[in-house]
Amino acid sequence: MTLDAKIPGGPLNEKWDRHRFELKLVNPANKKKFDIIVVGTGLAGASATATMAELGYNVKNFCIQDTPRRAHSIAAQGGINAAKNYANDGDSIWRLFYDTIKGGDFRSREANVYRLSQLSTQIIDHCVAQGIPFARDYGGLLDNRSFGGAQVSRTFYAKGQTGQQLLLGAYSALMRQVAKGKVQMFPRREMMDLVVADGKARGVVVRNLITGKLETYAAHAVVLATGGYGNAYFLSTNAMSCNVTAAYRAYKKGAFFANPCFTQIHPTCIPVHGTYQSKLTLMSESLRNDGRVWVPKQPGDKRPPNQIPESERDYYLERKYPSFGNLVPRDVASRNAKEQCDMGKGVGETGLAVYLDFADAIKRDGKDAIEAKYGNLFQMYEKITGENPYETPMQIYPAVHYTMGGLWVDYNLMSTIDGLFVLGEANFSDHGANRLGASALMQGLADGYFIIPYTIGGYLAGTPLTEVSTDHDAFAKSEIEINAQVEKLLSINGNRTVDEFHRELGMVLWDYCGMSRDMEGLEKALGMIRDLRTRFWKEVNVPGSGDDLNQSLEKAGRVADFLEFGELMVIDALNREESCGCHFNLACQTEDHEALRDDENYCHVNAWEYKGEEAAPTLHTESLEFENVELTQRSYK
Ligand SMILES: Cc1cc2nc3c(=O)[nH]c(=O)nc-3n(C[C@H](O)[C@H](O)[C@H](O)COP(=O)(O)OP(=O)(O)OC[C@H]3O[C@@H](n4cnc5c(N)ncnc54)[C@H](O)[C@@H]3O)c2cc1C
Repeated sequence: MTLDAKIPGGPLNEKWDRHRFELKLVNPANKKKFDIIVVGTGLAGASATATMAELGYNVKNFCIQDTPRRAHSIAAQGGINAAKNYANDGDSIWRLFYDTIKGGDFRSREANVYRLSQLSTQIIDHCVAQGIPFARDYGGLLDNRSFGGAQVSRTFYAKGQTGQQLLLGAYSALMRQVAKGKVQMFPRREMMDLVVADGKARGVVVRNLITGKLETYAAHAVVLATGGYGNAYFLSTNAMSCNVTAAYRAYKKGAFFANPCFTQIHPTCIPVHGTYQSKLTLMSESLRNDGRVWVPKQPGDKRPPNQIPESERDYYLERKYPSFGNLVPRDVASRNAKEQCDMGKGVGETGLAVYLDFADAIKRDGKDAIEAKYGNLFQMYEKITGENPYETPMQIYPAVHYTMGGLWVDYNLMSTIDGLFVLGEANFSDHGANRLGASALMQGLADGYFIIPYTIGGYLAGTPLTEVSTDHDAFAKSEIEINAQVEKLLSINGNRTVDEFHRELGMVLWDYCGMSRDMEGLEKALGMIRDLRTRFWKEVNVPGSGDDLNQSLEKAGRVADFLEFGELMVIDALNREESCGCHFNLACQTEDHEALRDDENYCHVNAWEYKGEEAAPTLHTESLEFENVELTQRSYK
């Protein structure tokens, strides 16, 4: 199968307009004849559902949580990018486009990224109209701050709670449509399978997490907005229920999985404290606007930070990257933190931490100013660590945070299964091998508010669709398979918990498919994951029954998928014999230890096709054509 990204012709800045004009439209009176399923109520899912319902489609919206408001998007702290140039510091659509392409180490599609940059400005207007309380400057204009990989201030924010405020806006729009009867809301449902009938996505099977019963729903198209799979690593900054299940099961039904090895490791998280932990906490990238990162110059220096004089500190990011300083992109900052710790300069009890110091900013701007910008983050830090960051530097270390990989989609956000669209973090589309901070919220909302409402119309208007109801054989077949898996999980009665297996998988992925990778380690990881999977199906203990609320059973299903998917991540990493963005292959680095790409052989998207339990997945590639930017060695010096 040849992957056709369906990128429209014409100049870069006209492609989206032209495409929207060329897309077929569904007559307003006919929209009510179409049913659409949206799985996910984060920023991508909620915005898509609300907008499509507003247009007149009938939408069914599903989520795992008890309310759409608890989707993981609520956790986003730092902000959302837009090329408004309110700061008058030289920003433009082109600059945001270029920063994003470069930030992703030239492994994303030009056309998608340009469209994202164009739409960024509309998102802010839309959200302001919804009443999102973005921070404002003294004169009342929307304020901006800087994020990594950019030399302009283009990040709009609401204190350290930007995701929460944006999600409340999308949620309000969504609930308005629920009240109007255009959206049917199904909380506490977990999608267990995608139903493909006559070659097209036509429904889902979900498990009611309260009653344990399977439910089936049919529609004319299915939209997945089910978030990222960072929890494959067990410890991550993601919400506990983030998973790969919906995407992975769609992969098993024929949706290709793109770049699964591209995982973002965020440089500023609260370091791991012990083996009892099941979650890590992010300290937003926005803190690097004012916080300075440093380690003692002398390896093994265990003096408290306030006893280490300036002359004996190494502000290594400022020293190595004078142009971007502490605001280098995440992959670069993370690798550098690891490098310092590997040299024995790490701080804190474990030596796996570096300092993020606000002393200079507090001296310069005053405590009140710093508190106004980051108060809730400082409070969160103090609650978790017991240390007051106004008085002593924060200790931070990289942690798994975001996944650039996801289901492959074309320019219309449609996967390789007709009628299956994928939005937000669940798709692979716009961030290449490394996402710039504050760009995930932008992408999720661009996908949901501004892209899918057009492209799904083009699909529905241009595709002959037969009547398919839940009586179709494909639904019954899926139900039988899901029930069989549930019964199998409950019958093993082994002696190890689901979490033990998950933690072990996470360690393997972190050690061998984490911040740096080498071929030998990846080969080893492959064997370890296969062995772990075999043991899981013999030794796991899932207590309780399938007939009511059973969180162990929920987790077991998700971990079973992570155990298969982890292998795909490693296979993908093994295949890419270059370094790019987050994928740092130790054999491919510049003299300065930066990622060294191999554009001749790897300037493409890897898209994997499922071939069955015992068979290796087949690799397809989508070549990336750069007609508007020059491929260069990424530099932030
Ligand atoms: C701590 C933290 C801070 C962040 N801060 C920022 C920031 O400041 N700026 C920024 O741009 N990005 C930030 N990000 C990234 C950003 O928050 C996410 O990428 C984004 O919110 C993902 O949105 P989404 O709609 O794609 O998915 P999510 O918000 O993850 O929503 C997924 C939805 O899918 C549902 N779901 C999942 N699986 C199933 C299933 N099998 N069945 C039914 N429903 C399912 C869930 O219930 C949920 O409703 C941050 C991430 C973290 C972890």
